[in-house]
Amino acid sequence: MTAAAPSSMPAPAPAPGALAAPLLRWFDRHRRDLPWRRRPSPYRTLVSELMLQQTVVATVVPYFERFVARFPDFAALAAAREEEVTALWSGLGYYARARHLRRAALAVVAQHGGALPSEEEALRALPGVGPYTAAAVAAIAFDRRAFALDGNGIRVLARLHAVRAPSNLPATRAHLHRLGLALVPPTRAGDFNQAMMELGALVCSPRAPSCDQCPVRAHCAGLAQGLALDALPVKQPRPARQQIRIACAVVQRRGRVLLVRRQPGELLAGTWALPSVVIADGTPAVEAARSAARASGAAVDDAGLAAARALGRVRHVFTHRDLTAEVFALTERAAGAARAADAAPDQHRWVAPGELGELGISSFTRKTLAAAGIGERKRDSRGKSA
Ligand code: SF4
Repeated sequence: MTAAAPSSMPAPAPAPGALAAPLLRWFDRHRRDLPWRRRPSPYRTLVSELMLQQTVVATVVPYFERFVARFPDFAALAAAREEEVTALWSGLGYYARARHLRRAALAVVAQHGGALPSEEEALRALPGVGPYTAAAVAAIAFDRRAFALDGNGIRVLARLHAVRAPSNLPATRAHLHRLGLALVPPTRAGDFNQAMMELGALVCSPRAPSCDQCPVRAHCAGLAQGLALDALPVKQPRPARQQIRIACAVVQRRGRVLLVRRQPGELLAGTWALPSVVIADGTPAVEAARSAARASGAAVDDAGLAAARALGRVRHVFTHRDLTAEVFALTERAAGAARAADAAPDQHRWVAPGELGELGISSFTRKTLAAAGIGERKRDSRGKSA
């Protein structure tokens, strides 16, 4: 419920000591039982924080459990091949996080004797660890006085302090970070950070915040000033997503499908996908699919190209891109075929449906494979193919 107090009420300024105490009391009663909060360790905190970037808690939970069961510590992760790590990340999106996490584990083992450093600056030097993750890990894993400004924190602070400047501007974020840091108590910094995130997730929700149940309502300037709380934080409209059309080629050989590895700098870099190219303006989609097949290293001859058959259209929305894939089946030449795809197994591979779960495959690629009637087998809770 959105509760708005009369605008004539004085606007309280959240006072550091006064706000932390009721917030921590509330957190002690309402904290969710999440797997990374059980048996906490710096390693588990880092894994969870990287997984939670851009991804909601409910999605992360099963991935986290599988991941730490397979790689229980930095040494195990550092010893893993990149492909094993991205395979366990399959479907979670933003695959650079998986590669960064493995490289961070290598750095922790090589440079820090296997123990994660506790200072924000040293954490920021690790691959994939930005200011937010460094602050979250320093506070949660080491109880350092730091503040991790995530989307929940931005919303809570913008309302608590009645900040009406657009929150997606760097200057506003820096301001909100300073406001948040000033509220962090000298002890229980980790719990305070998690309490702010939890408050944003459970009470100070984007729409219709439950102000009547809020432990810090007495300190909330937005509520006291009668602001339209749903409208905070203010955001500048994003530019429209880029529209991209691609053609994907499904080439099969003896029950296996040809997949190529996405290259650094490409969308979904490091994951395995159907050969694809962007459809240039004016080019028929089927021609683009033929180009993708030719460029893939598969031995598709003229007859196979001519027999290209449309399988369907797949749409996938990324943060900044709106992707439409036209999926075509092409026929591989049977005898005497070139074996370019066999010669570079780290870049091209013939994959049986039962092997898909062992590769890093994005949700988008799963959809394109499903258009061809190809699906991976389900995994059990230990991450093994069932
Ligand atoms: Fe309401 Fe509490 Fe959020 Fe203020 S901080 S808007 S009182 S839920």
